[in-house]
Amino acid sequence: MEYRPLGTTGLEASVIGFGAEWIEKMDAVEVRALADRCAAAGVNIVDCWMSDPAVRSALGAALEPTRERWIIQGHIGSTWQDGQYVRTRDLAHVRPAFEDLLTRLRTDHVELGMIHFVDDPAELRALMAGEHGFMDYVRQLKAEGKIGHVGLSTHNPEVAQLAAECGEVEVILFSVNPAFDLMPPSDDLNTLFGDYEGVAGDGIDPVRARLYATCEQRGVALTVMKGYAGGRLLSADTSPFGVALTPAQCLHYALTRPAVASVLAGFEGVAQLEEALAYLDATSEERDYASVLASAPRHAWYGQCTYCGHCAPCSAGINIALANKYADLAALHDEVPASVQAHYEAMAATAGDCTGCEACEPRCPFGVAIAARMTQTAALFGC
Ligand code: SF4
Ligand code: SF4
Repeated sequence: MEYRPLGTTGLEASVIGFGAEWIEKMDAVEVRALADRCAAAGVNIVDCWMSDPAVRSALGAALEPTRERWIIQGHIGSTWQDGQYVRTRDLAHVRPAFEDLLTRLRTDHVELGMIHFVDDPAELRALMAGEHGFMDYVRQLKAEGKIGHVGLSTHNPEVAQLAAECGEVEVILFSVNPAFDLMPPSDDLNTLFGDYEGVAGDGIDPVRARLYATCEQRGVALTVMKGYAGGRLLSADTSPFGVALTPAQCLHYALTRPAVASVLAGFEGVAQLEEALAYLDATSEERDYASVLASAPRHAWYGQCTYCGHCAPCSAGINIALANKYADLAALHDEVPASVQAHYEAMAATAGDCTGCEACEPRCPFGVAIAARMTQTAALFGC
């Protein structure tokens, strides 16, 4: 395993990290097998943004035997309310949710306390100015030793830039991949993703390039989410480049951006972890992504679900990310596979329960027309 300094924290992170969000579909034995293989391979950084108590408990049990080796990114502001994930700054929910995280992870601290998911620059400015007392709580956690360092997660390079310049955030969890890097930042997601053809061939968007340079200069570390763009870069059918990239190519792309310390890849099982670990022994030819980038993007990302889950909570109790994932899985086949149908029907609420309220849509960083997708998904599965 290769390790890199995590900015100025004094910590060293493995270049391949463990983005644990897919463990929600696994049983305790599978989660433990994944964590054990990570630890054996030298993977030492894990992100837990998930608020589901069962997921946190499963991860905590799996990490416990090797806890001293791990750098945990624990999120502040990711809460569980009425059986669903809710992102909030309301300390009445934030405080117990973070204490719950520590309890379920079977630890008294996490190395990185992440200000959870800020995509609006105005929101970050307000938090830094004292709104909700949120930052005071973050500082209190640091003073108490419950978090070692302050981090932040975002998909927006303008938010990341503000965080990098604020002097308080030492690590930023940021979405980095060859497709996203071509896109200009904007509060207007239509602008952000809509003119994709127009930026083809221009290389990294200058705002993103500035972010990377700022982080490098100031010693702010980037840890990477969406390194495979939700898996879409791994398939020719879904890649905006029209050809599939390999995990090694995606990982190498992210790891060759300035200031990037680790790519926290999501694994649906040990086999996918092994694919990522194969990067470490890959040849320079196997890592080469430039020939793929030279072919230029063909279409926009805007409107495509990456299964991130930020649209929750659904007023009808639908796990929107999971419904979208099952729909995308089913769409790969002429007929809906029985296994996918069974998993879909096992959901507590299905797309057929959608009322079309659209309350979820402003929370989606990728501009997915969720209500319309629910209608299509209900028709696809028949419920
Ligand atoms: S539009 Fe449908 S999926 Fe979105 S919150 Fe409303 S009921 Fe849930
Ligand atoms: S609909 Fe949007 S917010 Fe919800 S999981 Fe998909 S990409 Fe994420």
